[in-house]
Amino acid sequence: MRMEELTPHIEELKRVIGESADEEQLAEELNTYLNVYHVSLEAAKKGIMRKYGKDEPLFVSAASITKKIKEMTGEEKNVDLVARVVFVEEKQVTARGTPRTIFSGTLGDETGTAPFTVWDIGRFELVKGETYRFKNAYTKLWNDKLQINFGERSIVEVSDIPIKLPERMISYSSDLKISELREGIGNVTVTGKIFSVEPKEIESKGEKKTVFTGYIADDTGKVQFTSWNDHGLKDDETICAKNAYVRSFRGVPQLNFGDQCEISRVDDLLSNVQSGISKRSISDVLRAGGGIDVMVTGAIVDVRAGSGLIRRCPECNRSILADECTSHGKVNAVHDLRMKIVIDDGTGALSAIVNKECTERITSISLETAMAIAKERGDQDAVLRAMDEKVLVMNVTASGNVLSDEYGPMMIVRDIAVAVPDIRKEAEDLMTKVEGSL
Ligand SMILES: [Zn+2]
Repeated sequence: MRMEELTPHIEELKRVIGESADEEQLAEELNTYLNVYHVSLEAAKKGIMRKYGKDEPLFVSAASITKKIKEMTGEEKNVDLVARVVFVEEKQVTARGTPRTIFSGTLGDETGTAPFTVWDIGRFELVKGETYRFKNAYTKLWNDKLQINFGERSIVEVSDIPIKLPERMISYSSDLKISELREGIGNVTVTGKIFSVEPKEIESKGEKKTVFTGYIADDTGKVQFTSWNDHGLKDDETICAKNAYVRSFRGVPQLNFGDQCEISRVDDLLSNVQSGISKRSISDVLRAGGGIDVMVTGAIVDVRAGSGLIRRCPECNRSILADECTSHGKVNAVHDLRMKIVIDDGTGALSAIVNKECTERITSISLETAMAIAKERGDQDAVLRAMDEKVLVMNVTASGNVLSDEYGPMMIVRDIAVAVPDIRKEAEDLMTKVEGSL
């Protein structure tokens, strides 16, 4: 990293440490951390702040700095920007079991565009095409893609600063496989088989409109699509969509057939594509930001806190502590089992949430057994430890949708089973390796 690139970070350090801090000394220290110790920029800044007696909480509450979209690294905890709303829509989502409404869309400035999410809506309205000054945003990288987030500390003001968006968003005139689709791609040609197509009434610019939604799949994956015009799409037919574009929702790419899109019927060379699930490597799923009906095989490398025996509110199904729900007060909690696990297949690690039926199946611990364990040992964590013993490093095949929220991608497991190793294939692979080394 060159010295001039460090300037905004030195500014940031000065804000936290105090304007009296010596700029040259900060620059030298930052340089040492980065180029001698080779630590990440974020770790270097934390190290310097600690040295000056300033730790992270202060950093988080420190004044933000203003950045352009292209300057953002995905590590900003408190950043301001002036940007135009390229696209925005309201979405109903379930985040960690709790239903909520969010805004999601795309922001743009002169340097680029990025997807954004407003997690705490109701305090401000965003209008497509308008420019705003956003304060106290935070960013994350979801597998190399910048995501701008607005939480409860964020402030939004209408701005009259003129914003000229870059000429082109990412454009593909060529064909892409479904697993290669990424947020921001336009003019893409995709060939796939249509599943579960159905009309849907929506309101667009104050007018009722019928769009057609469903899934399109090829041999690499499956995505949801929205066709904004009636192309007479039917289940099981294979189509080629020219000039389609991609928008992500909760990190998962979705395909749009807009006014520019040309649909043609093609020979079905995808007869092997079922409406079912596609086997993917975890790195591939993470790179896409998520996926529909994905199957991965890997080892369970972590059973996280919040796994085991839990209580839920009978009214809203939210997991609760003791017998008190924040929305429904004192309730008769219902017991449930679940696991929050991490699956690693050697290419990457994926968080997954496992429901009661699947948890019972792979742990061989039923809800009744779990309640007996908790009662006998007098604490609920005993169940988590018992599950941990059963499933840690277990090789499993899990399938479900992988969605992203503010914590990153997570598989909502629909089915999970102990993976049966393909012994013959392993033997063949070993032979190939041995032969190759002779
Ligand atoms: Zn409740």
